[in-house]
Amino acid sequence: MTFQLTVGEATITQVTELARWPFPPWELFPDATGEQAARAAAEFGPGYVEERTGALVLAIHSYLVRIGGTTLVVDAGNGNHKDRPNLLPHHRFDTDFLNRFAGTGTAVEDVDVVVSTHLHPDHCGWNTRLEGDRWRPTFPGARYVFGRAELDSLQALAATEHPEGVAADLVRMYDDSVRPVLQNGRWEIADDGHLLAEHGDTKVVLRAAPGHTGGHLVAEIRSREGGAVISGDVVHHPIQLLYPELSQAGDADPALARRTRDAVLERCARDGLLLLPAHFPADHPFTLIRDGGRLRLLPVTGHHA
Ligand SMILES: [Zn+2]
Repeated sequence: MTFQLTVGEATITQVTELARWPFPPWELFPDATGEQAARAAAEFGPGYVEERTGALVLAIHSYLVRIGGTTLVVDAGNGNHKDRPNLLPHHRFDTDFLNRFAGTGTAVEDVDVVVSTHLHPDHCGWNTRLEGDRWRPTFPGARYVFGRAELDSLQALAATEHPEGVAADLVRMYDDSVRPVLQNGRWEIADDGHLLAEHGDTKVVLRAAPGHTGGHLVAEIRSREGGAVISGDVVHHPIQLLYPELSQAGDADPALARRTRDAVLERCARDGLLLLPAHFPADHPFTLIRDGGRLRLLPVTGHHA
């Protein structure tokens, strides 16, 4: 399950780590009602809401961006073999992601830049892979880019004594997916507006998109002809297009997350940007159109790699 599209001088390829990642609605969105899930099922179909269980279906995608001789990975999935005993949906994956990655025609050695929209386990896991008993950078020639606020808050958490529960797993994530990269020395900090790559009229720029986490970023690819947004966890599931007030259980600041979600989706609709979500179980991008009082999500097909 993958697609490839061109935005100006950039070629963007979706690399799927997990095609189906189902959750009970209230686990993802604590305020979601059965009625809301039923309406989402009717609107989006069984690919998005399981008929038998009512589970909301997510996926996990990375995006490979090639522009002017520079190769970027935006969001590095969950990774294999990582202990997340307090975040069981993330615990000890064993997927063929690296084979799928190789299937794009790009070798991990050829990646120049790796960036995470935010530092949660399903967005920076493939920063590293297990070699023997050591975590090594999966992309050995890459410069890893971290949002400043995101890395600061994770390092503050990692410095606390006796973290418990989810915090303990975030510290595990720091130790197995971030610290080995920092120790390797090829990394840098990014703020809002950070230019990742540029070629001709096309730019790849990081934009602040806080709320899910304090330092969450999105990657925007813009050219004269159009653009796309790799949106990370600004939006988790299309049910949030029907019910924009639904806050995901992991949102650090739900009110800010909603404002950011509204703003990013509105920008997609207004500027005709393609939406490339991290977690929609779809092998195509989306466009958004304003339809009366709401934003409507439209699949954009015909981009299969
Ligand atoms: Zn996520």
